[in-house]
Amino acid sequence: MIFDLHTHSTASDGLLSPEQLLDRAVDNGVSHLALTDHDTVAGVEQLQNVADFSSRWPINLVPGVEISASIDGQPYHIVGLWLDPTAGVLKNFLVQQQNLREQRGAMIGLKLERAGIIGALAGAKKIAAGASLSRPHFAQYLVQEGHCDKLQQAFKRWLGQGKPADVKITWPSVSDVVSVIHDAGGLAVFAHPDKYGLTKTRLRKALAAFKAVGGDGLELISGHQDKPVTDYLLRLSHTFELACSMGSDFHTPQQHWSDIGCHKALPVTAIPVWQLPQIAGRLGVQRVEHR
Ligand code: AMP
Ligand code: MN
Ligand code: MN
Ligand code: MN
Repeated sequence: MIFDLHTHSTASDGLLSPEQLLDRAVDNGVSHLALTDHDTVAGVEQLQNVADFSSRWPINLVPGVEISASIDGQPYHIVGLWLDPTAGVLKNFLVQQQNLREQRGAMIGLKLERAGIIGALAGAKKIAAGASLSRPHFAQYLVQEGHCDKLQQAFKRWLGQGKPADVKITWPSVSDVVSVIHDAGGLAVFAHPDKYGLTKTRLRKALAAFKAVGGDGLELISGHQDKPVTDYLLRLSHTFELACSMGSDFHTPQQHWSDIGCHKALPVTAIPVWQLPQIAGRLGVQRVEHR
C-alpha cells in the first residue's frame, strides 16, 4: 500500500482539480490519498459526491484538511485526517477560517497597493475562482502582471515574512484546532515539521505544545526530504509519543521533486498513523504493509 496523506487541489492553492488529482494518484499507484486543502473540505465533499467514484478511481480517499493554527503566536499547519467533512463543528470552524483568509487577503491587497501594485486583491480572487484564498494566488497575480518571474520570488519580495505585504494574523490556537479535528472524528497531525525554519529548541517546544493539547501525529516525511532530517524527526516522534504520517504536499505537476505518492517509505521503527487503533479498525486492517 502507498499512502500519500497530504495533497492540495484547486479547492485551495493546488493546480489540479480534485478529479485530476485522483487520476494522477491512481497513475502513481497510490492506495490511500488524503486531500488536505488549506482550511477547506470543499474538494473532499466534491469527490465524495461523485456517484461512480469506486469504478472511476481504485483508491481510498482519506478525507482531510490542512488547518492554519497558532502556537505561541506563530503560524503552524495542522493536518486533519480521516475526519467527517460534513461535521457541523468543523464546518462552522472552517467558515471562520475563510473569514480570516478574506480579511488577510484584503490587507495584503492594501499593502501591495501601497507598494504601487494595483488590483492585487481582485486579481488574486479571480485566480482563486472561489477557492480558499491563499498567498500563492497573490503570488500568481504578481507573476502574471510581470512583477516577478516565479512564485518563490513573489514570496521573497512581497509576501514572505517581514516583506512589504506580509500580514500577521492570529490563527486559532492549536488547542482549538486539535479539538475541532477530534470532534469531527479525525486525527490531528503536525504538518511538515522541517519547513518552519525553527531551531531544534523551538521545534521541540512547538511539538510539546501540540502533544499537550492531544495531537496524534507528526509528518515524518514531507515530500523530498534528506535522511538526517527524517532520522531526527523519527527520534522526536518517539520522544513526544506521536504517530507518523507522510505525504507529498503536492501542489502542482511542476513540483517534480515531490510527485504524488513518490516520497520515501516510513522507517520500520515508525508507528504509522494508519496503524493507530481508531484508524486501523476503520480500515479493516490490523497490520498493513507500507513502502
Ligand atoms: P497561506 O496558507 O495562504 O498563508 O499560503 C501558504 C502556502 O503558500 C503554502 O502552503 C505554500 O503552498 C505556499 N508558499 C509558502 N511559502 C512559499 C514560498 N516561499 N514559495 C512558494 N510558495 C510558498
Ligand atoms: Mn499550499
Ligand atoms: Mn503547509
Ligand atoms: Mn500543504
